[in-house]
Amino acid sequence: MSPYPHLLAPLDLGHVVLPNRVLMGSMHTNLEETRDWNRVAEFYAARARGGVALMVTGGMAPNREGGVFPGAAGLFGADDVANHRVVTKRVHDAGGRIAMQVLHAGRYAYCKDCVAPSPIKSPISPFPPNELDEAGIEKQIADIATSAARAREAGYDGVEVMGSEGYLLNEFLVTHTNKRTDRWGGSYENRMRFPLEVVRRVREVVGEDFILIYRISLLDLVPEGSTFDEVVTLARAVEAAGASILNTGIGWHEARVPTIATSVPRAGFAWVTRKLMGKVGIPVIASNRINTPEVGESVLAEGCADMVSMARPFLADPEFVTKAAQGRAEEIAPCIACNQACLDHTFSGKISTCLINPRACHETELTYDPAPVPRRIAVVGAGPAGLMAALVAARRGHGVTLFEKAARLGGQLNMARMIPGKEEFEGLVAWFETMVAKAGIDLRLCAEASVSDLKGFDEVIVATGVTPRDPEIPGQDRANVLSYVDVLAKGAEVGKRVAVVGAGGIGFDVAEFLVQGGDSPTLHPEEWRAEWGVADPETRRGGVAAPQPEPPARQVTLLQRKPEKPGRRLGKTTGWIHRAALQMKGVKMLGGANYERIDENGLHVTFGPSRENPTLVEADTVVLCTGQESVRGLADALAREGIEAHVIGGADVAAELDAKRAIDQGARLAARL
Ligand code: NAP
Ligand code: SF4
Repeated sequence: MSPYPHLLAPLDLGHVVLPNRVLMGSMHTNLEETRDWNRVAEFYAARARGGVALMVTGGMAPNREGGVFPGAAGLFGADDVANHRVVTKRVHDAGGRIAMQVLHAGRYAYCKDCVAPSPIKSPISPFPPNELDEAGIEKQIADIATSAARAREAGYDGVEVMGSEGYLLNEFLVTHTNKRTDRWGGSYENRMRFPLEVVRRVREVVGEDFILIYRISLLDLVPEGSTFDEVVTLARAVEAAGASILNTGIGWHEARVPTIATSVPRAGFAWVTRKLMGKVGIPVIASNRINTPEVGESVLAEGCADMVSMARPFLADPEFVTKAAQGRAEEIAPCIACNQACLDHTFSGKISTCLINPRACHETELTYDPAPVPRRIAVVGAGPAGLMAALVAARRGHGVTLFEKAARLGGQLNMARMIPGKEEFEGLVAWFETMVAKAGIDLRLCAEASVSDLKGFDEVIVATGVTPRDPEIPGQDRANVLSYVDVLAKGAEVGKRVAVVGAGGIGFDVAEFLVQGGDSPTLHPEEWRAEWGVADPETRRGGVAAPQPEPPARQVTLLQRKPEKPGRRLGKTTGWIHRAALQMKGVKMLGGANYERIDENGLHVTFGPSRENPTLVEADTVVLCTGQESVRGLADALAREGIEAHVIGGADVAAELDAKRAIDQGARLAARL
């Protein structure tokens, strides 16, 4: 009996039978833009080998004006078709299937030539779009159909027409962006005309034996979005126009509701997909925050969808499906939905990868080949850097001993998992525990390695991590002052009025921890939806309601010295969520502060270089979150004894350390030992 009978059941699409119900959703990785087609092919082939039923590529522009950014990849001619054939052939040789996403960005295209149904600028783009005339509309439809035809020529098994997320097709559908009075605007019938014409023309050129997925926006999460009646009307019409599968799209890019971040409940939008079940005759796919086989299985078993889409989980682990099928689900590297190495990279123009799997999108460059000569390796410190170094070294055949002075491995990850909305970090620590045990690593917990313990190893890796930085504020040794370690790791009592000193990632995390009263809303989807203002689209157009956050458990002031808006340097795609979450809880954020002293009344500050505006931030407790310093005692002691060691992670460079950099450094070191 299969451990996941629904997830692993085949799906008959008529001309083709998919082996299971798992789709790898589209991700823009910036890989195609490298034009290193061998690398692109290897990325997809690795996922095909891992058993996923069908993959969708990153969005391919149908023309220059529809590209997400200037130079965005697309299929523009014979050369491109030949390049893409390298990818499709490699995927087919690996036993997989792949569809190409055609993405016309509409007014989200980052260029002055961007086009839209009406000339209304998006709040997230500097470019007002050019209003399409009749000929312009025909050109867009023809270009989309042509690129679908080229996809078939290039050997793809299908296309996904991107109709959601606020891109061009979606823009035609709603009055928020479509103010036209001709046959492409006004009534819903008219507003549907563009996406329907696209689907009809695509089906016409690709023929019947070709998968056509339509990504439909089930919940726009913007004012004047679609009602659910309209969504159902569109879904049926798209089916009639020739689509073979409907995939779920949630939220426009400009929506002020998180839709895929780690604080979104698991499968947090499957309830919307469920509403469509039974309303159409073609399979329906659920999406967003489905990241384990258990979650996928229950989405299907509960009748929310016919298939599940997961995207980032396939960056974290290309073998997701194979491991699930073989009853090895606990070995699947978990996507923690942090966005740190995937979307944050994509939106910074860098190639995507994964915090937990630095090989993602680097398959041809970072390899874990068997070591020519197995050696004895000591790793000191079982935080992210040390753990990854130990795992990769063991995988390559080295004998690894891992020393950790705490009673549980995980290092700083153990503090992250205490933060409401960061529960996924628990799964990451658990995964490391499983993998360390399976790899046969000699794990020594509660063991502080000394220089003499390390003599006799062929290689020593020092990953001793970080310690909180001393901010040297007069009065900081008082009983009403705590460090973030006291709060998160030791459960110290915190008063009702709190000043949090330092507004980096940890200052924000601590503030979120302190304002949360009971359980994390991430674990209570209804509460989460109320907090962010997500409504049923049957009752509220676009699913938009007024946010109703719970009152804060504490009154928190968050401070930093830099004279800028706190939180500006947080993750590119997630920083706004942290800032909005704290604003909803009434957290006061102050930049440009000088910390003068702490006394029984709280924190005394002044502002600016000339120390003006003396102010008392009244606080029962002051929590210090002022960054970290490297712990290098062991590294220095080894150096004094003439023992050469590799120093990685926070012990190497503490500034702006995060798990992504630590894991990457650990993996790359162990890959070459
Ligand atoms: P951080 O991001 O470097 O922030 C340290 C904070 O302390 C800053 O606000 C800094 O701002 C302040 N500070 C630095 N030196 C100070 C001093 N001598 N006196 C007073 N204030 C001082 O470090 P962190 O918050 O400890 O986070 C550590 C790492 O973990 C970060 O790199 C971060 O990426 C990662 N992390 C990320 C997340 C996330 O959500 N992505 C969450 C948690 C942690 P001023 O200098 O302006 O005062
Ligand atoms: Fe998931 Fe984070 Fe990896 Fe992206 S970087 S795939 S969100 S774990």
